[in-house]
Amino acid sequence: MHRRIFLLLSFCVIGLVATVGSGYAIQASSSLSLGLPISCTLGQDCFILLYPDRDPGPSAVDFGCGRMTYDGHQGTDFAISDRQVMAEGIAVKAVAAGAVLRVRDGVADQVSGAPDQFFETRGFECGNGVVIDHGDGWETQYCHLRQGSVAVQPGDTVSQGTVLGLVGMSGQASFPHVHLSVRRQGRIVDPFVGPEAGPGCQVNPQTLWRQPLSYVPTGLIRSGFAQRPPELEELWAGSFYANTLPATSPALVFWVQSYGVLQGDVEHIQLIDPNGQIVLDEQHPLPASQRVWLSFVGKRAASQPLASGYWQGRYRLTRGQKTLIDQQHQILVE
Ligand SMILES: [Zn+2]
Repeated sequence: MHRRIFLLLSFCVIGLVATVGSGYAIQASSSLSLGLPISCTLGQDCFILLYPDRDPGPSAVDFGCGRMTYDGHQGTDFAISDRQVMAEGIAVKAVAAGAVLRVRDGVADQVSGAPDQFFETRGFECGNGVVIDHGDGWETQYCHLRQGSVAVQPGDTVSQGTVLGLVGMSGQASFPHVHLSVRRQGRIVDPFVGPEAGPGCQVNPQTLWRQPLSYVPTGLIRSGFAQRPPELEELWAGSFYANTLPATSPALVFWVQSYGVLQGDVEHIQLIDPNGQIVLDEQHPLPASQRVWLSFVGKRAASQPLASGYWQGRYRLTRGQKTLIDQQHQILVE
């Protein structure tokens, strides 16, 4: 069996919050140097899924001239793989020193990424959030924090790295992440290019990140094994973490969840039995570009149980000569 499922993510819209009467000045410079808004290692246990939209019209483009944004998206989405990780508690952190202007808590986390199952979010698109005044017209806003996790109050002073709460899925969020908006004098600033850059992606970027962040528009979210073809929503929920499966499983399915695939990328996915025999071997170009992509191969157990021992899944995604994802995963069948 071989099947691919995809989902368009386009539900992380937040409203612009008006700046009223903030006279707090901590940083006198006209620029702001930003740390990460989340406690994780990019490329290992978290990833940037969506960037600010730099297209002034109805189209959308991110600062790398790619498609990892959508029309009107005003911030950067730092995502974690699933709600299981979210439940463990991943800290949201202040990106720079400042004073807390506004907070909101008490908005329930979405229990599913399915848009038709969203809780009513009108007026609460940001969900539980924090706004920090950094002085000189600079503000940052953090959205979708976990219900009950907001750890600061208006008037608190914070340093870079102060914990503001936990990553969640409150408000209009279809996956667990923190949405960071940066504003100067009420205008959205893309932190990857700075306040002086004009619209579009052909600009001279002046990054605001203290440690410049690489542009990684394609990457792995998670891989694993299941006893049946998984649904994308189950992966966001945190299913299929098992390291062992019974030999009597109806099937053995190796799956890979990735982001930012482009039409024409070639994926190569293999299932290898405990004797090192390649049981399944699929290679093909992708028919369409997708922000989130789920790929899998599976072997049905026939009349006999699955062979005991370590099964291995291998996945490679290439674009031209470039390998973008190279992942191996094994599971003990017993
Ligand atoms: Zn967002």
